[in-house]
Amino acid sequence: MVPAPARFVDLLDRYDGFLFDAYGVLVDASGARAGAEHAIARVRAAGKPLRVVTNDASRLPATAAARFAGLGLAITADEVVSSGQLLAGHVAAAGLAGARALVLGTADARAWAARAGLDARAPGAPGADDLDAIVIADDGGFSLRDGLDAALTAGARALARGRALALVCPNPDLVYPRGGDAHGFTAGALALMLEAGLRRLHPAAPAVVYLGKPAPALFELARASVGGDARLVMVGDQLETDIAGARAAGLDAALVTGVSRWTAGAAPPDRAPHWLLDDLS
Ligand SMILES: [Mg+2]
Repeated sequence: MVPAPARFVDLLDRYDGFLFDAYGVLVDASGARAGAEHAIARVRAAGKPLRVVTNDASRLPATAAARFAGLGLAITADEVVSSGQLLAGHVAAAGLAGARALVLGTADARAWAARAGLDARAPGAPGADDLDAIVIADDGGFSLRDGLDAALTAGARALARGRALALVCPNPDLVYPRGGDAHGFTAGALALMLEAGLRRLHPAAPAVVYLGKPAPALFELARASVGGDARLVMVGDQLETDIAGARAAGLDAALVTGVSRWTAGAAPPDRAPHWLLDDLS
């Protein structure tokens, strides 16, 4: 399949509902992106459902909706599908209920972990060096250097005691857009760093389990919340997560030029976007 250049407005009649990535599509660290407000208004005017499908596990849905509202984007908490929601299923499936977990991230990230059944602790909090699990949720909300060093130290101690340490990363994204052509590191990059550090100290250190896009679970959650057989398109800015994940989940996909830029052969045909958008206009 060869991706076709398009405008967002051209997609309105083609689909029953719209899944939007957040960072790089609707917003970046500097605010709402060009055309985002208008695109949401057009979807609403067409009477079609939308969901924000985001690897951002740093905000509970209500916090995310309030932030969107502050940027002029009318999105309800019920329309936010966050990788934080996937923690509960993973905790249950991996038998981690009650596990003592250091959570790297915001207070909302700790709330996601607590809702999932983990005994969630912040870096530096009492008991934060006595662990069964480390959740790498976000790059914000804690002192990055101190938090990573604390996670490395406590994780290595747990492994030295023979514990089955679990490493979980809801947000596999390596980088995120900060506005213009500026970018920053995010949770997935921290997870790689922590995994490598623990491996250096303990050869049998575990691999990180990643929950968010490109894994199918978040897309399935979004599809279920819209309702069964609606024809949906995922609009994202990263080929490796938004587009590859959507295609693997059987969804159509539109790439907004951002972190990823389409060039011929940038992805195999079954992982390529159907549509190429400059922005959401
Ligand atoms: Mg993005």
